[in-house]
Amino acid sequence: MEYNAKSLIADEFINDGEINETIAYAQEHKDDMELIDKIIEKAKLRKGLNHREASVLLACDNEEKVKEIYDLAEQIKKDFYGNRIVLFAPLYLSNYCVNGCLYCPYHAKNKHIPRKKLTQEEVAKEVVALQDMGHKRLAIEAGEDPVNNPIEYILDCIKTIYSIKHKNGAIRRVNVNIAATTVENYKKLKDAGIGTYILFQETYNKKNYEVLHPTGPKHDYNYHTEAMDRAMEGGIDDVGIGVLFGLDNYQYEFAGLLMHAEHLEAVHGVGPHTISVPRVKHADDIDPTEFDNSLSDDMFCKIAACIRIAVPYTGMIISTRETPEVREKIIRLGVSQISGGSRTSVGGYCEEERPHDTEQFDVSDNRTLDEVVNWLMRADYIPSFCTACYREGRTGDRFMSLCKSGQIQNCCHPNALMTLKEFLMDYASEDTKKIGEEMILKEINNIPKDSVKEIVRERLVKIADGDRDFRF
Ligand code: SAM
Repeated sequence: MEYNAKSLIADEFINDGEINETIAYAQEHKDDMELIDKIIEKAKLRKGLNHREASVLLACDNEEKVKEIYDLAEQIKKDFYGNRIVLFAPLYLSNYCVNGCLYCPYHAKNKHIPRKKLTQEEVAKEVVALQDMGHKRLAIEAGEDPVNNPIEYILDCIKTIYSIKHKNGAIRRVNVNIAATTVENYKKLKDAGIGTYILFQETYNKKNYEVLHPTGPKHDYNYHTEAMDRAMEGGIDDVGIGVLFGLDNYQYEFAGLLMHAEHLEAVHGVGPHTISVPRVKHADDIDPTEFDNSLSDDMFCKIAACIRIAVPYTGMIISTRETPEVREKIIRLGVSQISGGSRTSVGGYCEEERPHDTEQFDVSDNRTLDEVVNWLMRADYIPSFCTACYREGRTGDRFMSLCKSGQIQNCCHPNALMTLKEFLMDYASEDTKKIGEEMILKEINNIPKDSVKEIVRERLVKIADGDRDFRF
């Protein structure tokens, strides 16, 4: 098999030979300061790096150069994403699953966890609970089970979620994280008005992938790896990729991730909308140390920094799998979206106490959404509940061109301030409200266009008077 970014065959666009050569090339050149300087100079153009170049930077351990990489990642994040952090929550619909994933407690052989699937009434209750926290954006999650969780069930849930209007609440964007499926089903998801279709590769290493997924439809590496091409063929142009770090060695995964992004760009003219960087965690009968590929927090942060400069226009997501300390560190280096107040169990938001019986993984950040919002603002980030882009048709390459043109500051920045204002009016504690109002007053001045500034001021008054859902 030859490496070919434009091929539609998984083994060709994620090519094992090319990845191994990339890792060897990176090792060979990790002390080649001339080359490293050249790559950093290229990265400064903000047009990205290819997987080989980025892998050299990841391998480089010269302190001075690593600092340059981190500084550049921070700067690129500021240039493209400002100081905004978009917030979302996962919503677990069903833990029925026919797969045998060795790292996931929902695997079919796990007989001692209760299996649960939310009814539409229960979905509605979960959504009310999420709206009462202040969430506007969800990622729905489900195991793979054609009998218990067919596409019709997922579509019904999406319909229910969008239909619930509780007090001033609304879920305005539903992202979907379900197993690889057919073009037909992706079309149905598109028609249901989803935001991003998210699917983690888990590992790009085919051999290891097949060991880690011994049974069930997910065993088919090529079908899984080619899913994003089918999603795009089905009309979904915002797709989110990711690997589960810890399953295989990080150098392999890093090169694979970037090759996947290059492939989507080469074939569809648009790269992934987001990259997620989950790490494998303890859960029910899962012991993460069994995978033997865990990586240090420092290397995890370095990966994030290198992703940031390699694909500057791609959002990066970090979940509550990470502790507040790691989240604080990594957000600075390039993360644009985080989850907050998450419950990773089926029906978890309706419970007073965090239930553990159907949790997909242990949560390391247990703070409430209000606490996360408060914490972000104290660190000078604007928590954003914006969902405007896909609702305004800015998906795929239209979103990318907005990002590239630098117009994002006249668009995302005001949207962040207006949705933050909604949160402060409807859901925030007194302390969060106070910090938030001060932040909005200060941040209005960072909207470049005076005319936009004026409109935002007027809309903020209207929001205080009870109007909702303004957007640019
Ligand atoms: N079932 C779907 C699939 O196969 O892609 C998607 C949803 S699954 C609920 C979401 C993700 O959780 C998986 O893709 C996997 O990366 C992650 N996950 C599973 N077990 C985990 C664990 N023990 N620790 C951290 N993340 C885990």
